[in-house]
Amino acid sequence: MTQAFPIKFEVEATAGEARAGRLITRRGVIETPVFMPVGTAGTVKGIRFEELESDDLDAKIILGNTYHLWLRPGIEVIKSAGGLHRFIGWDRALLTDSGGFQVWSLGALRKISEEGTEFRSHVDGSLRFLSPEVSMEVQAALGSDIVMVFDECAPGEASHEETERSMNLTARWAQRSKTAFDRMQSEDADTGRRDAEGLSGSQALFGIIQGAGHLDLRRISAEKTVNIGFDGYAIGGLSVGEEKSVMFEVIEDIAPRMPKNAPRYLMGVGTPTDLVEAVARGVDMFDCVLPTRNGRTGQAFTSCGKLNIKNARWINDQRPLDESCRCSVCRRHSRAYLRHLYIAGEMLASILLTHHNLAFFLDTMRGVRQSIRSGDFPKFRREFTERLDANGE
Ligand SMILES: [Zn+2]
Repeated sequence: MTQAFPIKFEVEATAGEARAGRLITRRGVIETPVFMPVGTAGTVKGIRFEELESDDLDAKIILGNTYHLWLRPGIEVIKSAGGLHRFIGWDRALLTDSGGFQVWSLGALRKISEEGTEFRSHVDGSLRFLSPEVSMEVQAALGSDIVMVFDECAPGEASHEETERSMNLTARWAQRSKTAFDRMQSEDADTGRRDAEGLSGSQALFGIIQGAGHLDLRRISAEKTVNIGFDGYAIGGLSVGEEKSVMFEVIEDIAPRMPKNAPRYLMGVGTPTDLVEAVARGVDMFDCVLPTRNGRTGQAFTSCGKLNIKNARWINDQRPLDESCRCSVCRRHSRAYLRHLYIAGEMLASILLTHHNLAFFLDTMRGVRQSIRSGDFPKFRREFTERLDANGE
Protein backbone atom coordinates (compact mmCIF):
# COMPACT_ATOMS: atom_id res chain seq x y z
CA MET A 1 0.00 0.00 0.00
CA THR A 2 1.26 3.48 -0.83
CA GLN A 3 1.72 6.07 1.88
CA ALA A 4 -1.74 7.20 2.95
CA PHE A 5 -2.35 10.93 3.03
CA PRO A 6 -5.81 12.33 3.69
CA ILE A 7 -5.75 15.53 1.61
CA LYS A 8 -3.31 18.17 0.48
CA PHE A 9 -4.28 21.81 0.20
CA GLU A 10 -2.36 24.53 -1.60
CA VAL A 11 -3.30 28.22 -1.81
CA GLU A 12 -2.07 29.47 -5.19
CA ALA A 13 -3.45 33.00 -5.41
CA THR A 14 -5.05 35.51 -3.06
CA ALA A 15 -7.06 38.72 -3.32
CA GLY A 16 -7.35 40.28 0.13
CA GLU A 17 -8.68 37.43 2.29
CA ALA A 18 -10.00 35.53 -0.77
CA ARG A 19 -8.00 32.45 -1.76
CA ALA A 20 -7.81 30.34 -4.92
CA GLY A 21 -6.17 26.97 -4.54
CA ARG A 22 -6.19 23.24 -5.03
CA LEU A 23 -7.59 20.61 -2.69
CA ILE A 24 -6.07 17.24 -3.56
CA THR A 25 -8.17 14.33 -2.37
CA ARG A 26 -7.67 10.64 -3.00
CA ARG A 27 -10.38 10.97 -5.65
CA GLY A 28 -9.12 13.87 -7.67
CA VAL A 29 -8.06 17.48 -7.57
CA ILE A 30 -10.64 20.10 -6.61
CA GLU A 31 -10.09 23.73 -7.55
CA THR A 32 -11.17 26.05 -4.74
CA PRO A 33 -13.27 28.03 -3.88
CA VAL A 34 -15.68 25.19 -4.64
CA PHE A 35 -19.43 24.65 -4.45
CA MET A 36 -20.50 21.12 -3.51
CA PRO A 37 -23.98 19.98 -4.63
CA VAL A 38 -25.89 18.24 -1.84
CA GLY A 39 -26.74 14.57 -2.35
CA THR A 40 -28.83 13.93 0.73
CA ALA A 41 -29.96 10.32 0.32
CA GLY A 42 -27.29 9.16 -2.13
CA THR A 43 -28.67 11.34 -4.93
CA VAL A 44 -28.38 14.97 -5.87
CA LYS A 45 -32.13 15.35 -6.28
CA GLY A 46 -33.36 15.77 -9.83
CA ILE A 47 -30.09 15.26 -11.70
CA ARG A 48 -28.17 12.28 -13.07
CA PHE A 49 -24.54 11.65 -12.20
CA GLU A 50 -23.61 11.88 -15.90
CA GLU A 51 -24.86 15.47 -15.87
CA LEU A 52 -22.92 16.30 -12.71
CA GLU A 53 -19.79 15.01 -14.48
CA SER A 54 -20.54 16.75 -17.80
CA ASP A 55 -18.56 19.82 -18.93
CA ASP A 56 -21.72 21.81 -18.28
CA LEU A 57 -21.53 21.28 -14.52
CA ASP A 58 -18.28 19.38 -13.84
CA ALA A 59 -18.94 19.02 -10.10
CA LYS A 60 -15.76 17.62 -8.56
CA ILE A 61 -17.23 16.78 -5.16
CA ILE A 62 -20.72 16.18 -3.79
CA LEU A 63 -22.19 15.65 -0.33
CA GLY A 64 -23.87 12.66 1.25
CA ASN A 65 -25.90 12.80 4.46
CA THR A 66 -24.88 10.35 7.17
CA TYR A 67 -28.20 10.63 8.99
CA HIS A 68 -30.34 9.81 5.97
CA LEU A 69 -28.13 7.01 4.63
CA TRP A 70 -27.74 5.45 8.08
CA LEU A 71 -31.54 5.23 8.51
CA ARG A 72 -32.17 4.19 4.91
CA PRO A 73 -30.94 2.02 3.21
CA GLY A 74 -28.72 1.36 6.26
CA ILE A 75 -25.02 0.72 6.61
CA GLU A 76 -25.06 -3.00 5.85
CA VAL A 77 -26.49 -2.39 2.37
CA ILE A 78 -23.85 0.25 1.59
CA LYS A 79 -21.04 -1.88 3.01
CA SER A 80 -22.16 -4.84 0.89
CA ALA A 81 -21.97 -2.62 -2.18
CA GLY A 82 -18.38 -1.67 -1.26
CA GLY A 83 -19.01 1.84 0.08
CA LEU A 84 -21.09 4.83 -0.92
CA HIS A 85 -19.12 5.59 -4.13
CA ARG A 86 -19.84 2.14 -5.53
CA PHE A 87 -23.39 2.04 -4.20
CA ILE A 88 -24.40 5.26 -5.99
CA GLY A 89 -22.03 5.01 -8.98
CA TRP A 90 -19.89 8.10 -8.38
CA ASP A 91 -16.09 7.95 -8.65
CA ARG A 92 -15.34 11.56 -7.78
CA ALA A 93 -14.89 12.93 -4.27
CA LEU A 94 -17.58 12.67 -1.60
CA LEU A 95 -17.94 14.57 1.65
CA THR A 96 -20.29 13.24 4.31
CA ASP A 97 -21.74 15.33 7.12
CA SER A 98 -21.91 13.83 10.61
CA GLY A 99 -25.66 13.70 11.10
CA GLY A 100 -25.41 16.31 13.87
CA PHE A 101 -27.27 18.98 11.94
CA GLN A 102 -30.07 16.67 10.76
CA VAL A 103 -30.64 15.37 14.29
CA TRP A 104 -30.58 18.95 15.57
CA SER A 105 -33.25 19.97 13.06
CA LEU A 106 -35.58 17.27 14.43
CA GLY A 107 -36.21 19.70 17.32
CA ALA A 108 -38.50 18.26 19.99
CA LEU A 109 -38.02 14.71 18.70
CA ARG A 110 -34.46 14.53 20.08
CA LYS A 111 -32.82 14.22 23.51
CA ILE A 112 -29.22 15.38 23.93
CA SER A 113 -26.89 14.03 26.62
CA GLU A 114 -23.14 14.07 27.14
CA GLU A 115 -22.99 10.68 25.45
CA GLY A 116 -24.87 11.66 22.27
CA THR A 117 -28.32 12.30 20.85
CA GLU A 118 -31.35 10.05 21.10
CA PHE A 119 -34.09 10.58 18.55
CA ARG A 120 -36.92 8.92 16.68
CA SER A 121 -36.27 7.94 13.07
CA HIS A 122 -38.41 9.90 10.62
CA VAL A 123 -38.48 6.75 8.47
CA ASP A 124 -40.03 4.19 10.82
CA GLY A 125 -40.39 5.91 14.21
CA SER A 126 -37.78 3.64 15.85
CA LEU A 127 -35.64 4.99 18.70
CA ARG A 128 -32.05 5.64 17.48
CA PHE A 129 -28.87 6.90 19.11
CA LEU A 130 -26.19 8.95 17.37
CA SER A 131 -22.88 9.82 19.02
CA PRO A 132 -19.38 10.82 17.86
CA GLU A 133 -18.37 7.15 17.84
CA VAL A 134 -21.44 5.99 15.91
CA SER A 135 -21.08 8.83 13.39
CA MET A 136 -17.40 7.96 12.74
CA GLU A 137 -18.31 4.31 12.35
CA VAL A 138 -21.05 5.12 9.84
CA GLN A 139 -18.83 7.52 7.86
CA ALA A 140 -16.05 4.91 7.73
CA ALA A 141 -18.56 2.43 6.34
CA LEU A 142 -19.74 5.00 3.78
CA GLY A 143 -16.09 5.45 2.77
CA SER A 144 -16.44 9.14 2.01
CA ASP A 145 -13.25 11.08 1.21
CA ILE A 146 -13.96 13.86 3.72
CA VAL A 147 -15.59 13.05 7.07
CA MET A 148 -17.11 15.66 9.40
CA VAL A 149 -16.94 15.52 13.21
CA PHE A 150 -20.18 15.01 15.14
CA ASP A 151 -21.26 18.38 16.51
CA GLU A 152 -24.17 20.14 18.12
CA CYS A 153 -25.62 23.26 16.60
CA ALA A 154 -27.09 26.03 18.79
CA PRO A 155 -30.04 27.94 17.32
CA GLY A 156 -29.27 31.38 15.89
CA GLU A 157 -31.14 33.15 18.70
CA ALA A 158 -29.67 31.04 21.55
CA SER A 159 -28.53 32.88 24.70
CA HIS A 160 -24.83 33.24 25.53
CA GLU A 161 -25.13 30.67 28.31
CA GLU A 162 -26.96 28.11 26.17
CA THR A 163 -24.54 28.61 23.26
CA GLU A 164 -21.53 28.24 25.57
CA ARG A 165 -22.83 24.94 26.92
CA SER A 166 -23.46 23.70 23.37
CA MET A 167 -20.09 24.91 22.06
CA ASN A 168 -18.21 23.14 24.88
CA LEU A 169 -20.14 19.94 24.21
CA THR A 170 -19.19 20.24 20.52
CA ALA A 171 -15.53 20.59 21.53
CA ARG A 172 -15.68 17.42 23.66
CA TRP A 173 -17.48 15.60 20.85
CA ALA A 174 -14.80 16.80 18.40
CA GLN A 175 -12.09 15.14 20.50
CA ARG A 176 -14.14 11.94 20.75
CA SER A 177 -14.75 12.07 16.98
CA LYS A 178 -11.01 12.37 16.34
CA THR A 179 -10.17 9.47 18.66
CA ALA A 180 -12.84 7.25 17.09
CA PHE A 181 -11.85 8.32 13.57
CA ASP A 182 -8.18 7.44 14.17
CA ARG A 183 -9.22 4.06 15.55
CA MET A 184 -11.42 3.38 12.48
CA GLN A 185 -8.52 4.25 10.16
CA SER A 186 -6.12 1.96 12.03
CA GLU A 187 -8.71 -0.85 11.96
CA ASP A 188 -9.09 -0.41 8.19
CA ALA A 189 -12.81 0.29 8.57
CA ASP A 190 -12.78 2.81 5.70
CA THR A 191 -14.86 0.97 3.09
CA GLY A 192 -14.01 3.59 0.47
CA ARG A 193 -10.36 2.61 0.46
CA ARG A 194 -10.53 -1.04 1.26
CA ASP A 195 -12.61 -1.86 -1.77
CA ALA A 196 -11.13 0.51 -4.34
CA GLU A 197 -7.92 -0.04 -6.29
CA GLY A 198 -5.12 2.48 -6.49
CA LEU A 199 -6.45 5.10 -4.10
CA SER A 200 -3.65 7.26 -2.79
CA GLY A 201 -4.88 7.99 0.66
CA SER A 202 -7.04 7.70 3.72
CA GLN A 203 -10.18 9.58 4.68
CA ALA A 204 -9.77 13.18 5.88
CA LEU A 205 -11.47 14.55 9.00
CA PHE A 206 -12.72 18.13 9.34
CA GLY A 207 -13.46 19.90 12.64
CA ILE A 208 -16.44 22.25 13.07
CA ILE A 209 -16.39 25.64 14.78
CA GLN A 210 -19.66 26.52 16.57
CA GLY A 211 -20.77 29.39 18.83
CA ALA A 212 -23.79 30.86 17.00
CA GLY A 213 -23.61 34.67 16.74
CA HIS A 214 -21.41 35.13 19.84
CA LEU A 215 -17.95 36.14 18.64
CA ASP A 216 -16.20 35.41 21.95
CA LEU A 217 -17.56 31.84 21.90
CA ARG A 218 -16.71 31.43 18.21
CA ARG A 219 -13.10 32.39 19.01
CA ILE A 220 -12.88 29.89 21.86
CA SER A 221 -14.43 27.22 19.64
CA ALA A 222 -11.92 27.99 16.85
CA GLU A 223 -9.02 27.69 19.31
CA LYS A 224 -10.26 24.43 20.81
CA THR A 225 -10.90 22.91 17.38
CA VAL A 226 -7.52 23.94 15.96
CA ASN A 227 -5.81 22.59 19.10
CA ILE A 228 -7.28 19.14 18.52
CA GLY A 229 -5.94 19.30 14.96
CA PHE A 230 -7.90 18.38 11.81
CA ASP A 231 -7.25 18.12 8.07
CA GLY A 232 -9.69 20.97 7.42
CA TYR A 233 -11.97 23.30 9.38
CA ALA A 234 -15.61 24.22 8.99
CA ILE A 235 -17.78 27.01 10.30
CA GLY A 236 -21.10 25.44 11.29
CA GLY A 237 -24.31 26.79 12.72
CA LEU A 238 -24.73 29.78 10.43
CA SER A 239 -27.72 30.52 8.21
CA VAL A 240 -29.99 29.01 10.91
CA GLY A 241 -32.16 32.04 11.57
CA GLU A 242 -29.66 34.75 12.53
CA GLU A 243 -29.36 38.08 10.65
CA LYS A 244 -27.16 38.04 7.57
CA SER A 245 -24.97 40.77 9.03
CA VAL A 246 -24.25 38.45 11.99
CA MET A 247 -23.23 35.65 9.62
CA PHE A 248 -20.75 37.87 7.76
CA GLU A 249 -19.42 39.31 11.01
CA VAL A 250 -18.69 35.78 12.28
CA ILE A 251 -17.00 34.71 9.03
CA GLU A 252 -14.93 37.89 8.87
CA ASP A 253 -13.70 37.40 12.44
CA ILE A 254 -13.21 33.63 12.43
CA ALA A 255 -11.84 32.77 8.95
CA PRO A 256 -8.49 34.55 9.56
CA ARG A 257 -8.15 32.56 12.84
CA MET A 258 -8.41 29.28 10.94
CA PRO A 259 -5.12 27.70 9.78
CA LYS A 260 -3.95 29.23 6.50
CA ASN A 261 -2.73 25.94 5.12
CA ALA A 262 -6.01 24.04 5.56
CA PRO A 263 -9.30 24.32 3.67
CA ARG A 264 -12.07 26.41 5.26
CA TYR A 265 -15.62 25.17 4.75
CA LEU A 266 -18.77 27.21 5.42
CA MET A 267 -21.55 24.69 6.01
CA GLY A 268 -25.01 25.01 4.49
CA VAL A 269 -24.59 28.49 2.94
CA GLY A 270 -26.10 30.03 0.84
CA THR A 271 -27.29 32.27 -2.03
CA PRO A 272 -24.89 33.12 -4.89
CA THR A 273 -24.17 36.50 -3.26
CA ASP A 274 -23.52 34.81 0.10
CA LEU A 275 -20.92 32.58 -1.59
CA VAL A 276 -19.07 35.45 -3.22
CA GLU A 277 -19.15 37.50 -0.01
CA ALA A 278 -17.90 34.56 2.07
CA VAL A 279 -15.06 33.92 -0.40
CA ALA A 280 -14.08 37.57 0.05
CA ARG A 281 -13.78 36.81 3.78
CA GLY A 282 -11.55 33.74 3.29
CA VAL A 283 -13.84 30.71 2.78
CA ASP A 284 -12.85 27.90 0.33
CA MET A 285 -15.72 25.38 0.36
CA PHE A 286 -19.53 25.55 0.33
CA ASP A 287 -22.57 23.33 0.19
CA CYS A 288 -26.23 24.29 0.01
CA VAL A 289 -29.56 22.76 -1.01
CA LEU A 290 -30.78 26.04 -2.57
CA PRO A 291 -30.04 25.30 -6.26
CA THR A 292 -31.68 21.86 -6.14
CA ARG A 293 -34.52 22.56 -3.69
CA ASN A 294 -35.51 25.85 -5.33
CA GLY A 295 -35.26 24.21 -8.76
CA ARG A 296 -37.98 21.81 -7.70
CA THR A 297 -40.25 24.65 -6.58
CA GLY A 298 -39.93 26.60 -9.83
CA GLN A 299 -37.28 29.10 -8.84
CA ALA A 300 -34.24 29.81 -11.03
CA PHE A 301 -31.08 31.62 -9.94
CA THR A 302 -29.80 33.86 -12.73
CA SER A 303 -27.17 36.53 -13.24
CA CYS A 304 -30.03 39.07 -12.94
CA GLY A 305 -31.48 37.66 -9.73
CA LYS A 306 -34.15 35.08 -8.93
CA LEU A 307 -36.74 34.16 -11.51
CA ASN A 308 -40.04 32.47 -10.64
CA ILE A 309 -40.97 30.27 -13.60
CA LYS A 310 -44.62 30.07 -12.47
CA ASN A 311 -45.09 33.76 -13.24
CA ALA A 312 -47.63 34.47 -16.00
CA ARG A 313 -45.30 37.03 -17.56
CA TRP A 314 -43.18 34.22 -19.09
CA ILE A 315 -46.12 32.63 -20.95
CA ASN A 316 -44.82 33.69 -24.39
CA ASP A 317 -41.24 34.57 -23.46
CA GLN A 318 -38.87 32.92 -25.94
CA ARG A 319 -35.68 33.93 -24.08
CA PRO A 320 -33.64 31.40 -22.07
CA LEU A 321 -33.77 31.47 -18.26
CA ASP A 322 -30.52 33.43 -18.19
CA GLU A 323 -29.23 35.09 -21.34
CA SER A 324 -25.64 34.96 -20.13
CA CYS A 325 -25.76 31.27 -19.13
CA ARG A 326 -24.25 28.69 -21.48
CA CYS A 327 -25.74 25.59 -19.84
CA SER A 328 -27.53 23.01 -21.99
CA VAL A 329 -30.93 24.09 -20.64
CA CYS A 330 -30.38 27.73 -21.56
CA ARG A 331 -28.98 26.74 -24.97
CA ARG A 332 -32.08 24.73 -25.84
CA HIS A 333 -35.20 25.85 -23.96
CA SER A 334 -37.27 29.02 -23.49
CA ARG A 335 -38.89 30.42 -20.37
CA ALA A 336 -42.25 29.84 -22.08
CA TYR A 337 -41.55 26.11 -22.41
CA LEU A 338 -40.16 25.75 -18.87
CA ARG A 339 -43.20 27.57 -17.49
CA HIS A 340 -45.50 25.25 -19.45
CA LEU A 341 -43.71 22.17 -18.04
CA TYR A 342 -43.96 23.50 -14.50
CA ILE A 343 -47.64 24.44 -14.74
CA ALA A 344 -48.44 21.06 -16.33
CA GLY A 345 -46.74 19.30 -13.40
CA GLU A 346 -44.16 17.64 -15.67
CA MET A 347 -41.14 16.21 -13.82
CA LEU A 348 -38.87 17.59 -16.54
CA ALA A 349 -39.50 21.10 -15.15
CA SER A 350 -37.71 20.18 -11.90
CA ILE A 351 -34.92 18.40 -13.77
CA LEU A 352 -34.21 21.31 -16.12
CA LEU A 353 -34.43 24.02 -13.44
CA THR A 354 -32.16 21.99 -11.13
CA HIS A 355 -29.63 21.58 -13.94
CA HIS A 356 -29.57 25.30 -14.72
CA ASN A 357 -29.38 26.27 -11.02
CA LEU A 358 -26.43 23.96 -10.41
CA ALA A 359 -24.75 25.29 -13.57
CA PHE A 360 -25.23 28.83 -12.27
CA PHE A 361 -23.74 28.08 -8.82
CA LEU A 362 -20.81 26.11 -10.27
CA ASP A 363 -20.18 28.75 -12.95
CA THR A 364 -20.23 31.50 -10.35
CA MET A 365 -17.47 29.69 -8.46
CA ARG A 366 -15.53 29.21 -11.71
CA GLY A 367 -15.73 32.97 -12.23
CA VAL A 368 -14.66 33.58 -8.63
CA ARG A 369 -11.59 31.32 -9.03
CA GLN A 370 -10.55 32.88 -12.33
CA SER A 371 -10.92 36.40 -11.02
CA ILE A 372 -8.85 35.68 -7.89
CA ARG A 373 -6.10 34.25 -10.09
CA SER A 374 -6.21 37.12 -12.59
CA GLY A 375 -6.38 39.83 -9.91
CA ASP A 376 -9.91 40.93 -10.89
CA PHE A 377 -11.79 39.58 -7.88
CA PRO A 378 -12.75 42.98 -6.38
CA LYS A 379 -14.28 43.96 -9.74
CA PHE A 380 -16.00 40.58 -10.14
CA ARG A 381 -17.43 40.81 -6.61
CA ARG A 382 -18.68 44.39 -7.08
CA GLU A 383 -20.32 43.74 -10.44
CA PHE A 384 -21.84 40.42 -9.36
CA THR A 385 -23.45 41.72 -6.19
CA GLU A 386 -24.55 45.03 -7.73
CA ARG A 387 -26.35 43.22 -10.55
CA LEU A 388 -28.11 40.85 -8.14
CA ASP A 389 -28.91 43.55 -5.57
CA ALA A 390 -30.43 45.71 -8.29
CA ASN A 391 -32.80 42.84 -9.07
CA GLY A 392 -33.61 42.02 -5.46
CA GLU A 393 -31.91 38.65 -5.01
ZN1 LIG B 1 -28.57 27.92 -17.74
